[in-house]
Amino acid sequence: MSAASVRRVRTHGGSVRRWIGVGAALAVTAGTLVAAPVAAEPNSEAPAAGSLTGRTVFLDPGHQGSADGNRLTKQVPDGRGGTKDCQTTGATAVTGKKEHTINWDIAQLVKAGLESQGARVVMSRADDTGWGGCVDERAEAANRSKADVAVSLHADSTSVGADRGKSGFHMIVPSLPVPDATVASVQAGNGRKASEAMRDAFKRAGFKPANYAGVKDGIQTRSDIAAVNLTRVPAVFVEMGNLSNPEDAKNLSEAKGSSAYALAITNGIKSYLATAPAPAPVPLAPGEADPQVDGSELEDLAALAAVGPLIEELAGATSLEEAQALLLAQGADVSAQVLKAMLAVVYTLFGGKLPI
Ligand SMILES: [Zn+2]
Repeated sequence: MSAASVRRVRTHGGSVRRWIGVGAALAVTAGTLVAAPVAAEPNSEAPAAGSLTGRTVFLDPGHQGSADGNRLTKQVPDGRGGTKDCQTTGATAVTGKKEHTINWDIAQLVKAGLESQGARVVMSRADDTGWGGCVDERAEAANRSKADVAVSLHADSTSVGADRGKSGFHMIVPSLPVPDATVASVQAGNGRKASEAMRDAFKRAGFKPANYAGVKDGIQTRSDIAAVNLTRVPAVFVEMGNLSNPEDAKNLSEAKGSSAYALAITNGIKSYLATAPAPAPVPLAPGEADPQVDGSELEDLAALAAVGPLIEELAGATSLEEAQALLLAQGADVSAQVLKAMLAVVYTLFGGKLPI
């Protein structure tokens, strides 16, 4: 762990930024837990320095909280010379949880993980209560963000009732060529590489590729996904699991499983970006130490077996001291960024039981 990466930051009082404030406050907590020197930086509102510093990730939690005042069937460009519906409402899990909320919750966790590593994260929608834009508008927002990678999060559905036979994740890649030459070359190259990196991260985390819909080793080829047909930055379209399948639905609906998915997605993005062309380094300010953050710890913690029980224990902690003791038991070599991300996950999903 790098001492320079742990910064003293102010917490934010407002409810709008409460979630961010939780993460920032916990960075300090994590730093003191592992007895690292904390750099005094009174105005440190900038993203954390880390292995993803200088990288931008566009995150698109599929669907929206509400379509009130908008017409889902409005026809928009499909990226193949035709049109398709602006949006759909998304699926509902057999647990009763809506797909748009599952996508939103996991996207928030991924955002925490990426920001803890220094990435800039641009979201396709601002909340899980209102409208989030048509598929073509979201693709255009991804293009405008100039992200290194755009990731759309979805969960599939195969029947109205329970479907015990079909389960697992898949990444949807576009059938090629796509008419737009830039889209075709980006998605055939880095888009495919990013999708395979995501598939591999899911497998490393213990998730199984889908056993249905012609999915081959976690990859499905389709022509009708506007999010990739219209996106000129490398795009990954994730179907995390099948919400009709009771086991997938349970994992995607609950905190422990959601955290494991979020860590797998964060790791998939990290491992793709590790192979993608890096931006030019930003010169250090005079006297500023090079953080030299090693991001490998997050990878090591990705397995559900390692993270799940700890998150459950942390969620059950009734005092800050208890949480600190649990974290200390994990060993002093766990990076502050990872602790921050994990605690942000716990607070986000469990509503923040600890005093902050
Ligand atoms: Zn969906």
